[in-house]
Amino acid sequence: MSFESLGLRTELLRAVSEKGYSHPTPIQRQAIPPILEGRDIMGGAQTGTGKTAGFTLPLLQRLMSSGKPANGRRAVRALVLTPTRELAAQVSESVDTYGKHLPLKSTVVFGGVNINPQKQKLFRGVDILVATPGRLLDHVSQNTVDLSNVDILVLDEADRMLDMGFIRDIRKVLALLPGQKQTLFFSATFSNDIKRLADDLLKSPALIEVARRNTAAESVTQVVHPVDKSRKRELLSYLIGSNDWQQVLVFTRTKHGANRLSEQLMTDGINAAAIHGNKSQGARTRALADFKAGKVRVLVATDIAARGLDIDQLPHVVNFELPNVAEDYIHRIGRTGRAGNEGEAMSLVCVDELKLLKDIERLVKRDIPKVVIGDFKPDPSIKAQPINMGRGKQQQAPRNNSGKNTRSKHARNESNGNSAAPWNKQRSSGKKGRPNNQSPPRNRTRRGSRSAA
Ligand code: AMP
Repeated sequence: MSFESLGLRTELLRAVSEKGYSHPTPIQRQAIPPILEGRDIMGGAQTGTGKTAGFTLPLLQRLMSSGKPANGRRAVRALVLTPTRELAAQVSESVDTYGKHLPLKSTVVFGGVNINPQKQKLFRGVDILVATPGRLLDHVSQNTVDLSNVDILVLDEADRMLDMGFIRDIRKVLALLPGQKQTLFFSATFSNDIKRLADDLLKSPALIEVARRNTAAESVTQVVHPVDKSRKRELLSYLIGSNDWQQVLVFTRTKHGANRLSEQLMTDGINAAAIHGNKSQGARTRALADFKAGKVRVLVATDIAARGLDIDQLPHVVNFELPNVAEDYIHRIGRTGRAGNEGEAMSLVCVDELKLLKDIERLVKRDIPKVVIGDFKPDPSIKAQPINMGRGKQQQAPRNNSGKNTRSKHARNESNGNSAAPWNKQRSSGKKGRPNNQSPPRNRTRRGSRSAA
């Protein structure tokens, strides 16, 4: 199937071909026709599936065919809500890319940066607004945005918006959209809260699912490296050095942990940067740009900061620590293996995290192969300890206007971590004929050997 056969106008086809896309991805094939017909969409879309173009292309086309408001002025007619600044910036970039041959204007608003340039752009008039919920409501309260002409609403990564405690903000925004006619709802995972929100919002939606819910992208090879907690950093340096990885995204649970790890990697001679919510937007943008340009070899990120990162052909993702919520594992490993490329996701798992690992394996419906690297075999005498989630000082609980601790799910996982079966009681990949023990790779570099020593 070609983009032409989807009924897109020539300006959009030109932009798509200039971007180098030859064929629509499965989600684009499924989403574009019903969106063009004006239907609501409930999209169960993995990250990296091409969903942004899947909703942006038909959205632009619909705006071109619907008339301007009665007063003839440009007005916000499409609103895209995203959970994070990075994702907002990325979606906005896509809107500009795909709409570059059309006379439509768009802008993006998110927190952490000066609000005044955003106000000026809004004042000059835009057709499409991409926003994070908090900053959008700041503009609403200052009367710098008018949402009364919004026809199309997109909720991108709705599950993450709920995880981050944005539900009240989302409902406030919805109340400001009297004339809204079409809703495009995307989520990688489907909890009961998500289903409830979708039920409230959507009118007989077209259901689109490109990969089974709650399963990880097929193109990602997953492996667990059992290791003692105190040796994780050493193992990470060793893996990076010995395999000569040049671009690795590493996840930690806490902001503090991300900072510490990136500093430690630097002392191992590996150029690293941390990206998390306590960094200024400028620092986050710079770290990401340096990582994309290959100036920074390792980007250490927390879950929230990494959400929405789209790095072309990112080959390696490492879970330095497993996430507290199993669904986050899917989001994390979805940073690699995007748009048909092969990717590799490794998890360095210590005895404290065995319960979290079990939750993840249940969610992805498979045993993840366990491969011990060289002499990094865990010491069986080490007992599981409670997991330090770094709340309070290290990591704030997500926003929740009701004041409820939205991390309760995380906290449950944390307390359960202790009762996990020890390593020797875990099923390992050995059963399936896979190696359960791997010698260190032969092409050890000096850096790799030193850090593993
Ligand atoms: P998304 O899931 O929207 O974040 O997209 C993931 C990646 O796929 C982005 O880097 C896009 O540029 C790329 N992409 C989107 N559509 C296509 C396509 N039809 N062919 C190839 N790559 C695509």
